[in-house]
Amino acid sequence: MKQLVSVVIPIFNEAQSLPELTAQLDQVFMGLPNVESEIIYINDGSTDNSRQVLREIKKHNSKIKIINLRRNIGKATALNLGFKKAAGSVIVTMDGDLQDGPENLPVMLAKLSEGFDLVVGWKKRRFDPWGKTIPSKAFNFFVSKVARVSLHDVNSGFKVMRQEAIKELHLYGELHRFIPILIAKRGYSVTEIEVLHHPRKYGRSKYGWDRLIKGFFDFLTVMFLDTYGQKPLHFFGIIGGLSILIGLIFSIYLSILHFQGESIGQRPLLIFAVLLILAGLQLLSTGLVAEMLISKTRDDKLPIDDED
Ligand code: UDP
Ligand code: MG
Repeated sequence: MKQLVSVVIPIFNEAQSLPELTAQLDQVFMGLPNVESEIIYINDGSTDNSRQVLREIKKHNSKIKIINLRRNIGKATALNLGFKKAAGSVIVTMDGDLQDGPENLPVMLAKLSEGFDLVVGWKKRRFDPWGKTIPSKAFNFFVSKVARVSLHDVNSGFKVMRQEAIKELHLYGELHRFIPILIAKRGYSVTEIEVLHHPRKYGRSKYGWDRLIKGFFDFLTVMFLDTYGQKPLHFFGIIGGLSILIGLIFSIYLSILHFQGESIGQRPLLIFAVLLILAGLQLLSTGLVAEMLISKTRDDKLPIDDED
């Protein structure tokens, strides 16, 4: 039986690239006789004529599926919609700007069939302005070290993966950058393979330097949820408890001085002690509220592989 591969491509103002990209993909899949393919374009609220171009392409190509969003909502959400629509047992994600060359797909698919759950396309020679590639290298280094996932190009948009690995995730905001980490943290096997990258031919990049700052916060979210997502009280409780404890020690110390007849009303330490106790109580109750919030969904996403 032929394997169905779904190619999921988010696009935001990429009209000029679409005909070429579709033709290149068709060509590549023609060379893979054991593979059936579908191409899912998620038009993320483009304001150029991407919508019309896609409609035109679909007229002559039965493999094309299209989701049009009324307004631009972001790459991660667009991808998420695409994953829901994808019917393939293997899912490919790539950018719609011709920078990720479809000619890399056969080796990526071959790598996946060696038994991996996710193959990340590593853009070793990257054709983007240096203002983008250098910070990206630093970011990748930091992220792969902290998350302990050994990849050179964590945020590469070019990936091949098994359907079950990706369908477990719920992507939103800009979490698309961390798909390999989210998948690896769920116990799936992740690897990388070098891919050819191309300079942007048409249109322009949708992301600027601010991606680094946003990416940092998103990474914080990813790591926090991974470590404490199922036990928030361990985080808030420990910090809160410590704060209360230190506050109490200061208060006891001040109380002793008070009973010895010293005036403590003017001491900054008194305010500090009260602050520590109040802040600690707030942290502790935040942790308890978080536990209440997740108690209903706790067992939803366990990484069960199979059972007999
Ligand atoms: N993209 C999208 N929604 C957005 C921003 C980008 O669907 O809000 C798509 C974009 O059309 C492209 C891919 O995401 O297919 C990667 O974007 P881009 O090429 O601008 O990023 P870069 O290659 O510069 O990192
Ligand atoms: Mg690009």
